Amino acid sequence: MKLEYLMLDQLVNDSQALDRALSGEELSFDDGMELMNYDNLHLLGAVADQSRKKLVGDEVSFTASYYMNYTNVCAASCQMCAFYRKDGDEDAYTLTPEQIEQRVGIAKQMGATEVHIVGGFHPKLPLDYYEDMMKLIKKNHPELKIKALTAAEIFFLSKLTKNSVKEVLSRLKESGLDSLPGGGAELFHPEIRPKIARGKCTGQEWLDTVETAHNMGIKSNVTMLYGHIEKPEHVIDHLIKIRELQKKTGGFITLIPLKFSLDNTELEQEHLVNNECSSVYDLRITAVSRLMLANVLNNISVYWVAYGKKLAQVALSNGGSDLVGTAFSEEVYRAAGKPTASSINELEIMVKEIGRKPIQRDTFFNVVNRF
Ligand code: SF4
Repeated sequence: MKLEYLMLDQLVNDSQALDRALSGEELSFDDGMELMNYDNLHLLGAVADQSRKKLVGDEVSFTASYYMNYTNVCAASCQMCAFYRKDGDEDAYTLTPEQIEQRVGIAKQMGATEVHIVGGFHPKLPLDYYEDMMKLIKKNHPELKIKALTAAEIFFLSKLTKNSVKEVLSRLKESGLDSLPGGGAELFHPEIRPKIARGKCTGQEWLDTVETAHNMGIKSNVTMLYGHIEKPEHVIDHLIKIRELQKKTGGFITLIPLKFSLDNTELEQEHLVNNECSSVYDLRITAVSRLMLANVLNNISVYWVAYGKKLAQVALSNGGSDLVGTAFSEEVYRAAGKPTASSINELEIMVKEIGRKPIQRDTFFNVVNRF
């Protein structure tokens, strides 16, 4: 046994969960709860970092991604969202398929290999709108991958247009859809979900929608929104549900834990959350995500847009292995006052600074470039 493993083995003897994680065993709900409350964050991070090293090595991936929000009009009004507007609001907008294609063309010139397209639940846009958007992008930029519409949007579209989820997905796939982003997952547990995501599908509906997509060969990411009013059990429940579905379908590409961004949200205005969560909690979430999903979903992303680059580097040393992407534009986070632009070169430097190996990947984690 390597010396570093031996030393960690000796250190974790006060935690059954960490001991089991070191042995590569699947962690139970109780193990997860133990880790959410475990007081030695350094040790937790070290075990998660070791797990990352064993499972995916020292490479840190990222993609050149163009983020676009096609509309901010939304029939829902999630308590954690600063982005949505109602139809007719002065600053409500909806892009035409032609405007979207034009922006995508500019993003391609900037080096994007994928477009990430999400928006509000627009109550009037027909399915044709989404089909036209994707067909136009594929016609003019066939080499770009289209990662578009969260499972929550797909579910909404299915209800709005009175088509089954399968029918909606099938028509979009035919129009050029390559994969689904991971948004709208928030937290699945029914105790917390209605308190943060009013008007959105239930956790089970999100999971069922994604399962249908996976079974049709459409892979997806998955997110986890944390740092608001959740309890540790909601986080562990979420991770276990992801793990169980992944065992069935193998269709998740990466988990992206998303830190709740406070500004301009109802949760802030109603003083239900007064501060964003601490960096210590961010690191715990990264580490626990890594250990709960070990051997089943090995890509754990660090969303640097929400963390800032310095904390993102630390999270990469606590179980993270991917930086998501360049995020040329990201209106949702910008609505809550976050920085949103970075180049491939900056991400490469960020990774090299911590002694890891940067790689540019595509949507499906195929290597595009090594630096
Ligand atoms: S999070 Fe999405 S669904 Fe919820 S209000 Fe914002 S735009 Fe609408």
